[in-house]
Amino acid sequence: MSKTKILVTGCKGRMGQAVIRAVEATMDAEVGAAVDVGDSLADALAKCDVVIDFTSHHFSDELVAACVKAGKAFVMGTTGHTNEERARIHEAAHALPVVHAGNFSVGVNTLFWLTRKATEILGSDFDLEVVEMHHRMKVDAPSGTALLLGEAAAKGRDIDLATHSQRVRDGHTGARTPGDIGFATLRGGTVIGDHSVIFAGPGERLELAHKAEDRGLFARGAVRAALWGNGRKPGHYSMADVLGLND
Ligand code: NAD
Repeated sequence: MSKTKILVTGCKGRMGQAVIRAVEATMDAEVGAAVDVGDSLADALAKCDVVIDFTSHHFSDELVAACVKAGKAFVMGTTGHTNEERARIHEAAHALPVVHAGNFSVGVNTLFWLTRKATEILGSDFDLEVVEMHHRMKVDAPSGTALLLGEAAAKGRDIDLATHSQRVRDGHTGARTPGDIGFATLRGGTVIGDHSVIFAGPGERLELAHKAEDRGLFARGAVRAALWGNGRKPGHYSMADVLGLND
């Protein structure tokens, strides 16, 4: 069987390099081409079956248009898109298989599913807190992944996260608001990303946790998504689709 040829965009970047290593470690895939700023996208696309993109959202429109023109599926790992850029990705998914995720970690996506299931099972007697820790350079809080964990819990409770979350606590806060999903943020050192979801009930506590050890985990998830998405019918797919976690 011939190997799936992958175009790695942003190949000089941290994630691009990790994707190249992950593809090289995958039996069914090979790097068909790799591009960074200034390289021809059309030439590279012609040599490949599917694209894995971890670059900048500024590049998104150009990449998406080129993939549609060439009829090549893509895996969108880049984050920070504007609403307009996001809309164009969704539009491309009418013509192509697109796998799009803010976090390609297989473990974290499993944690989203476990969080939703645990929330459904444990019910409203359990208070829910999401705790995350990242390296000292991270500029935003809570992390996007912590918010997605909150969304998974809100889905399990059938509530709107925006109106049922406590993002900051300081000073005389009063007692916990029943039903709120709380967030706590820790920052320090070189931590790539730790996330825990704590379910605190009457007389017992359940904790689900994930710890990222290197950025290769996102790259490995993206390669798995590329192999899954290539040749599939057009659609906007998530990592939950790739991993079969939609039940
Ligand atoms: P980085 O700055 O190390 O690398 C980005 C690379 O993209 C650079 O080499 C840059 O030259 C290249 N690039 C930018 N514009 C380009 C263009 N027009 N054409 C070709 N190449 C271009 O950044 P990084 O840490 O590798 O992260 C890249 C993106 O991936 C960010 O948006 C980050 O948030 C996202 N990310 C997503 C996940 C996930 O699981 N979805 C995980 C980690 C990082």
